[in-house]
Amino acid sequence: MPVKTIYRCEICGAEYGKKAEARKHEAHHFGLSLDQYERWGYLTRDVESMERVLSDGRHGQALIRAHQEAKRTLKQYEEGRGLHGRKPLTDCLKKEGEM
Ligand SMILES: [Zn+2]
Repeated sequence: MPVKTIYRCEICGAEYGKKAEARKHEAHHFGLSLDQYERWGYLTRDVESMERVLSDGRHGQALIRAHQEAKRTLKQYEEGRGLHGRKPLTDCLKKEGEM
């Protein structure tokens, strides 16, 4: 039986056959274009991954500075776009459905 992957918006549940379309739709919930949305997600993941590395407390000034810089960049990005306290969705939900 042919199986089709469907991507579902985490916010409103709208469904799309293509991931890019679902991402674009999600971006609209935040008032962003797809490019802006992907950039925001990238900046957010950057900060989060550094936080995970730093959490063991054995890292030097270079990484601490890089983390502060990444946080500043993310904050600036969010400030201009009304994204304070919001988080980009990690990925659209995927489900397999029969065609
Ligand atoms: Zn939606």
